[in-house]
Amino acid sequence: MTPPPARVGQPATEIDTPALVIELNAYERNLDRMARGVAAYPGVRLRAHAKTHKCAVIARHQIARGAVGVCCQKVGEAEALVDGGVDDVLVSNEVVGRAKIERLVALAKRAAVGVCADDAGNLRGLNSAAGAVGVQLPVLVEVDVGAGRCGVAPGPAAVALARAIAESPNLRFAGVQAYQGKAQHLYDADQRRAAVDEVNRQTAAVVQLLREAGLPCAVVTGAGTGTWQFEAGGGVFTEVQAGSYVFMDADYGRVDGFPREFEQSLFVVTTVMSRPTPGRAVLDAGLKSLAVDSGPPLVHGRPGVDVVAVNDEHTILSVADPASGPRLGEQIWLVPGHCDPTVNLFDWYACVRNERVEALWPIVARGAVQ
Ligand SMILES: *Cc1c(COP(=O)(O)O)cnc(C)c1O
Repeated sequence: MTPPPARVGQPATEIDTPALVIELNAYERNLDRMARGVAAYPGVRLRAHAKTHKCAVIARHQIARGAVGVCCQKVGEAEALVDGGVDDVLVSNEVVGRAKIERLVALAKRAAVGVCADDAGNLRGLNSAAGAVGVQLPVLVEVDVGAGRCGVAPGPAAVALARAIAESPNLRFAGVQAYQGKAQHLYDADQRRAAVDEVNRQTAAVVQLLREAGLPCAVVTGAGTGTWQFEAGGGVFTEVQAGSYVFMDADYGRVDGFPREFEQSLFVVTTVMSRPTPGRAVLDAGLKSLAVDSGPPLVHGRPGVDVVAVNDEHTILSVADPASGPRLGEQIWLVPGHCDPTVNLFDWYACVRNERVEALWPIVARGAVQ
């Protein structure tokens, strides 16, 4: 782990850069907004997605505000969060391969840990590993409701898999996961709603089939920051898995409708390391500190100063008005293009309130891709 970029109590202007910064007032408002928002839907709980933040402190804040637990995509993330005191983690993903499955069931002895599955052979591996350590592992059937990622079709295949779980002595059928990832970032609210109408229809149908087969779903989980109100209001889902809402990013900033209620709270703070011409400034952060898969970062609070290119270790800015343009050594705050993979590039959050460093939180699941 790299050393923290600042000390508690320092002014934000003294944070060593590039650094990942949380503006705590905006962050806390985001947590409170989501907690209040979800509470308005009876029978629905937040299961916050921790792949966004990878931080046990933040997971505990979400649970303290009413989240039933968190999600992770990787066993390693789940291990880091359980080590950090989080006691309810759903691996909202398939876990395949002996080494990972053995770690998963070991973790399930220490905390409430569940997993998704979309294959009967995988269930046999989960069942024998769970039996070997003496746990009953909760397993959800993942159904593909339009994302085109993992999951069985939401019809008879889902019922067959649920039955196979229920008949496995060391597994417990826990319900269904139906996550439509592609719908989250459709910028147009009507398009997102139409996509989730289809999610709700298909998910309701498969839950009904399962009930008729004597396999009631205790949990129906899915949704993200872009669509959560549509799933929460659809009458089928019991959990929403929003993750990015804690931080937001440049791409979510382009999504219209209710996600706009969340504020940008995550920044990559950089320093102007070169001013080679009046119209050009160069920052000390590049691809090793910024994920650009959803587009480049945005310059925060500096109209007329724009990102032109992001190289390995540099970001090039154009400066429209050199007279008011950034000076050498000045800090520039960037809004990351995509929050989750940007977070994974840092070991620490420097948490700032009223321009002062208030806390340093370790990103304990940083790099936990196994
Ligand atoms: C990424 C992800 C989420 C959270 O999505 P956000 O857009 O970050 O809110 C929820 N569920 C699953 C399965 C995911 O992969």
